[in-house]
Order: sequence, then structure tokens, then C-alpha cells
Amino acid sequence: MDTKVLWIGFTDDSGAFAKSALEALTAARTIADGLGGELVAGIIGGAAETALTQIGGTSPASVRTVTGEAFSTPRYKTDAAAAEQIAKAAEAGIVVAAAGSRFSRIAAGLAQRLGGAVDTQVTGITAEGGSLKVARWFYRQRMIGTIERTTRPWVLSIAPGSFAACEEGAVEATPLEAATDTRTTSLGIEAGTSGAQTIRPDADILLVAGAGWTKKQADGEVHADVASELILDFVETNRASLGSSKSMVDLASEGQAVLPFLTHLHQIGQTGSSPRHAKGLATCCHGEEPHAVGWRFINERRAINTNAACGWAQGKADVLYVADAFEVMRKVNERLK
Ligand SMILES: Cc1cc2nc3c(=O)[nH]c(=O)nc-3n(C[C@H](O)[C@H](O)[C@H](O)COP(=O)(O)OP(=O)(O)OC[C@H]3O[C@@H](n4cnc5c(N)ncnc54)[C@H](O)[C@@H]3O)c2cc1C
Repeated sequence: MDTKVLWIGFTDDSGAFAKSALEALTAARTIADGLGGELVAGIIGGAAETALTQIGGTSPASVRTVTGEAFSTPRYKTDAAAAEQIAKAAEAGIVVAAAGSRFSRIAAGLAQRLGGAVDTQVTGITAEGGSLKVARWFYRQRMIGTIERTTRPWVLSIAPGSFAACEEGAVEATPLEAATDTRTTSLGIEAGTSGAQTIRPDADILLVAGAGWTKKQADGEVHADVASELILDFVETNRASLGSSKSMVDLASEGQAVLPFLTHLHQIGQTGSSPRHAKGLATCCHGEEPHAVGWRFINERRAINTNAACGWAQGKADVLYVADAFEVMRKVNERLK
């Protein structure tokens, strides 16, 4: 079957692709190879020069670009028009892109415009003998489902961290035009909270801060200021992502000592997020099941807790350091500098 598998990438402010876009390109290449189809690429953004040096490793048969001022800003109308233009020009049977905010906003509309179907947050692909199946999680990562569809085009968004980023290399492109008329003006980007800046989905390491950081320590005192310093020092020096337990983020509403940079966005677990990082280190966190379930996609798990019988010791961590996290993190920070 000669299926055209189209990957679409959106460039960021610097004109380059984020890691998640290059991961989605690997997914598109996997589908094209499995179906014996052809991989083609589309680029949407302010400019494509830098981006064109990033995607050659997967040898797309053709690359189409829609660039210019109107496409430098995320906006439903212009992004959907550009993606539709590229998909129609490519005669795409499968359309693949990273499940970032920009593609997630247009994925359903794009499928509607193409007369196709859409599935989002795909984490796995089985493509062989002309058949394509995709996997995604349901009910907050509790059940995994496998989906197969006959409808084409089939629009798929790929969950970040599910595939390795593709090899870089240069390619040439054909520019396309798309509608630029719009009534929506972008005024800029504002982070939801100051804490959002310490959530880094692309980071190799996750540091989780539990409620123990704000509890009375061996000297009978609370040392939230020291805890803040140690945690932020580690996170900033190592460009790590910061997570938290539910108790830790809930403490603020109970009027207790808190770490001011933690918000509900940081919460990992059953009622929080399930991030994907190569390594995770839990500090002053008990490792109860509702929290530890959010660690299912962390490959290597370590924890520091003064209590040798804490939840992490019940087979939930690869390594448990039974120690005072204040002392350990001070030494770790010194060494990593
Ligand atoms: C329906 C439901 C959903 C839930 N969803 C979530 C969720 O999504 N995410 C989540 O996190 N929780 C969730 N919870 C809550 C969860 O069960 C736990 O209550 C919570 O994770 C505990 O947080 P904690 O480990 O930070 O705090 P604590 O249980 O208070 O543990 C603090 C730990 O710090 C250790 N400690 C203290 N001082 C030090 C030190 N100096 N050095 C090292 N260790 C130290 C202590 O030994 C202790 O183990 C949920 C609960 C329910 C019922």
C-alpha cells in the first residue's frame, strides 16, 4: 500500500524544533517503514532555515513549508489552514505530529477539514503488513488501549517522551502558501504561575519534593527556607524538572510552612501527572501508592527518606537512601557543581 505518512512540525521562537517534534518524526518514520509507505514532512512557523537542518536524518521524500509572520504565533485559524494545505498537497493518508499545545489545538479541526479521524496522545505504534495500530492510555494512565481504524486520513498526535528523537541532517523544502487572514492577535505568552517554570518535560531527571521538607526536623524546628534553597539549587544547576507530592502542595491551603514555588501543576500521582523522565529522585516523600503510581513512566527511581519502612522500600524504588535529605542534597549539590 502506498500510504503517504505526513509528519508536521511547528518551529519555536528560535526557528528550531523542540525534542518532542523530533520524537514524533521518529514515530512517523516507524509508521512509514512498517506500512511500506512514504514519509513526507511539513513545517509550519516563522521561518524554516534552522528547522531544515534538523530533520534530514529520517530522509523524508519531500518537505513542504508554510512560513511567515502569520505562522510564527500559535493561532487556531492560521495553524489549521497551514496544516490542511500541507496535508492536502501531500495527499497524506496518516498525519503525525507531537502532542504539544499547538498541534493539540488543531488536531480535531484538521481531521474534520480532511474528512478523516483523529486519535491523540499516542504512546506506541505497531505497523506491519499494511496494518497500523496505535496505543494510548485511558483513565489517567490506568488502562492502555490499542486502536485500529480504516478511516483515512488518520491524524495522530504523539505523547512526548514515547519515542527517541530522530537523527539530525539537512533537507530541502518546497514553500506553500496558506491563508493568513485572521481576527486574532497574539499579545504574548504568560506562564500560568511562576512555578510552571520549574516543570521541564524534556529534562532527564525529575526531583520530587515531599511534605517532609516542611515538617519539624531532628532539632525540633522547621527549615522551609533551607529546603527551598537546596531544592531550587539542584533543579536549576541540573536543569531538572520539579515535581511534588499532593500533601506538599496541599499544605499551602492549611496555612503551614510551604515552598512558594510549588503549585498543583507540580503534583505527581493518581490525581496529578505521570511525567516521563529517564531518572527520578524522591526527597522527603513517603512514596504512598497514590503518589508512586505517577512514577510509572520514570525509568530509574531513587528516594531519600529517614524512614527505612517508607513506601519506597516496598518495591517502589530501585534504590532507597535511608538518610536525611537535607544532608544528602547539600552534599549532592556541592558535588554536582
Ligand atoms: C484518592 C487519593 C488520591 C491521591 N492522589 C495523590 C496524588 O496524585 N499525588 C500524591 O502525591 N498524593 C496523592 N494522594 C495522597 C497520598 O496518599 C499521600 O498522602 C501523599 O503522597 C503523601 O505525601 P508525602 O509523602 O509528601 O507526605 P508524608 O506522608 O507526610 O511523608 C513525608 C515523608 O518525609 C519523610 N521525611 C521527613 N523529613 C525527612 C528528611 N529530613 N529526610 C528524608 N525524609 C524525610 C518522612 O519520613 C515521610 O516519609 C492521594 C490520596 C488519595 C486518597
